[in-house]
Amino acid sequence: MTIVNVTTRSHSEMVDITREVSALIPKGMQDGLCCIYSMHTTAGITINENADPDVCSDIVKFMEKSVPWDEAMFRHYEGNSAAHIKSSLMGFSQMIPVSNGKLVLGTWQGIYFCEYDGPRSRKVHITFLEE
Ligand code: ZN
Repeated sequence: MTIVNVTTRSHSEMVDITREVSALIPKGMQDGLCCIYSMHTTAGITINENADPDVCSDIVKFMEKSVPWDEAMFRHYEGNSAAHIKSSLMGFSQMIPVSNGKLVLGTWQGIYFCEYDGPRSRKVHITFLEE
């Protein structure tokens, strides 16, 4: 298991961590699985398009509009229920196959850390399981 540190710069954003995760594939590993897991309750992990940056900004915009930051609407004492809800909607982990020593990602796919209560320093756990 390895940890990737992610520094987010906005209250809500998607950070491409594809390069960092790819660089961690163990030397000599051919086939298996890569698990990307966030321990945070106000962030998520997803896979989506990394060609047009408007896709990520549209997703961030959609999530902000779907779950508005409205402290009066929720009971949680920290006032950040919107971030907790978005985190659960997006999910905390992704599993990606590894084939011939490479992550099996489509041409336009990237791995994203999704921040919903930033800016903060975050940690993403990366585990490889060899076949
Ligand atoms: Zn909270």
